[in-house]
Amino acid sequence: MNLRLSLLFSSLILMLLSSCGEVSKMLGQKPIDGDHSTMVSIVNTGTPKTYKLHDPDCREENAVADLGTRSIWTYVDGKIQLVRVDLSGFSGKGLASKFIKNSYFDSRISLGYDCEISPTSQKCRSGNGYTQGQQLNFCGANKIYPRSSVENAALSAAYGMKKAYLMQQKIDPKKVLEKITFEVFPISTIKIIQRTEDNGELIEHHETRIMTDNAYWSFNKSEDNKSGNSYIAIIPHSEERDLLFPIKLWEQPAVMSHEFGHHIFHNYAPSVAVKNSIVGLYFYDDAVNNTQRTKVFDKALSALNEGVADKWSHISFESGNDPMGQWTLRNRDVNKEDFDTGTAKKLDHYPLGVYFGAYSASSLSNDVNYTDEHMIGAITAHGITKLLSIKFKDKAQSLYSTVETYIGSEVLSWLKSMEYLITTDDGFDYYDGQTTMNVLLKPIFDKHSEPSQCSVIKQVFPLSVNYNKCR
Ligand SMILES: [Zn+2]
Repeated sequence: MNLRLSLLFSSLILMLLSSCGEVSKMLGQKPIDGDHSTMVSIVNTGTPKTYKLHDPDCREENAVADLGTRSIWTYVDGKIQLVRVDLSGFSGKGLASKFIKNSYFDSRISLGYDCEISPTSQKCRSGNGYTQGQQLNFCGANKIYPRSSVENAALSAAYGMKKAYLMQQKIDPKKVLEKITFEVFPISTIKIIQRTEDNGELIEHHETRIMTDNAYWSFNKSEDNKSGNSYIAIIPHSEERDLLFPIKLWEQPAVMSHEFGHHIFHNYAPSVAVKNSIVGLYFYDDAVNNTQRTKVFDKALSALNEGVADKWSHISFESGNDPMGQWTLRNRDVNKEDFDTGTAKKLDHYPLGVYFGAYSASSLSNDVNYTDEHMIGAITAHGITKLLSIKFKDKAQSLYSTVETYIGSEVLSWLKSMEYLITTDDGFDYYDGQTTMNVLLKPIFDKHSEPSQCSVIKQVFPLSVNYNKCR
């Protein structure tokens, strides 16, 4: 695979598997902004491990009305264990619940790109195809499913999502969330046709890859761009990765709480997904809005979306032991001061410059942290955690029983403020990345600029000085 293709791959794929890709965004024809590609892909591809239905004969009419408490294989305290988990409220018919509309397995998602590559640019046309799989039903009251069954994976994922949902309901019971669609193991393929010209001769390169070992939240916009459908998918573990990482990503409940965190972001700040081209930050819709706004604004919101999802995952477990911090996601531990590279989590000129593309990707081939919205999000999640924990401690918030419910309620009110800003501030067109981040973070700074908090703001958000009272 040559350099250009690898750049192309990572930029394409990052979008979908950034845990908040947006498949519908790929409908139509869109150019790719190749300048922001990164050399290291967080996407995993490989040979999908086969998961079978344990109960292939379970029909809708035989499905149990309520799953009740079930034994499932899931990841607890660093081990895979069979645990009893409360799944009451889930119907066995399509695994529907108060927050899940329906669940399908073995859907097929195919993403296609047809790209013309010149020495200075790459332009791609893209399209996608989707075939809905079968409804996932559960029969029998007290069944123990094998770990590598479709049913167990779905229940394990549902358990993590339920945690995140219950936290939102505990804090804001009046807010009814839109129901999501849940996809278990859609087979996701990427097909790329690459055309280059060499001495007048057109060379075509075809490549197909199957995406594995991940989970994502996505929003499919309706035709009129005014509404859409939110969904969460887990995609298969690969044979290759099983050897290295025998724990499936979706067996970590916190990963699914993270995905549900994107859904919460979407429900509290719906304009982000509906009005803007978020979340595929390397794509922007040429026909609709190929402006600086789209690029900068989407990137800022993508990063904040990741930060909120990480934070929501953390509070969903009401635990100081950050489940995101274990295994492969140590960088995302909200309590950790540094990245694995030893760099402090600090939103200053360098990470923002890299992220918003002030430097070319090639000159930064060893600095992959800051081209990824998850890393900018991780800094934000860390900063918010420090900021709000201090206030909780200082004030002994009598209204909230725990620091998690306090932080959760502050995050929800921040999202509401963000929604207000997005829908009322036309000036976003003219903001650079740094300013956009500061404007979107301002509601948090406005409420949390007490003397004890200013040192945190100066430490983690040093460029926000004109946007808070800590000057
Ligand atoms: Zn995410």
